[in-house]
Amino acid sequence: MAEILSMMKTQEVSAIRGYHAHLYYDGVSKHHAWKLRREIEGRFEDAVVGRWHDKEMGPHPVSFYQVAFSPELFAEFVPWLALNRKDLNILIHPNTGDGYLDHSAHAMWVGPSLDLNLDSMRKRYEERLRNEAAGEAVAAE
Ligand code: ZN
Repeated sequence: MAEILSMMKTQEVSAIRGYHAHLYYDGVSKHHAWKLRREIEGRFEDAVVGRWHDKEMGPHPVSFYQVAFSPELFAEFVPWLALNRKDLNILIHPNTGDGYLDHSAHAMWVGPSLDLNLDSMRKRYEERLRNEAAGEAVAAE
């Protein structure tokens, strides 16, 4: 991974189409997650609040729900989450079209970070890099 990251070019912010906030909760913090969800729906009408996932799913190691929001909302929404998260762990990730990097190198956390289950995303990412490298080698011949 370090080798891949060292080869990455500088990216422009315009690559970000939108963001997700993943709000993680457990049996104790679910009540607060529920209250925060109602407030988000009331205050941030342009944000899209996803359904409850009461178990781990994909790279997400514990229960969560997702909020999709535009780059225009970032400056207001993310600080608001920081002030009101209480004991929730919140992953903020951009959507650039590269799911693995968006959930790893591009990830931002509000509160302490959790270890995401990135193995299958990483494998697909590395396979894609290999295929691209093979394609470039063929094109260069
Ligand atoms: Zn997401």
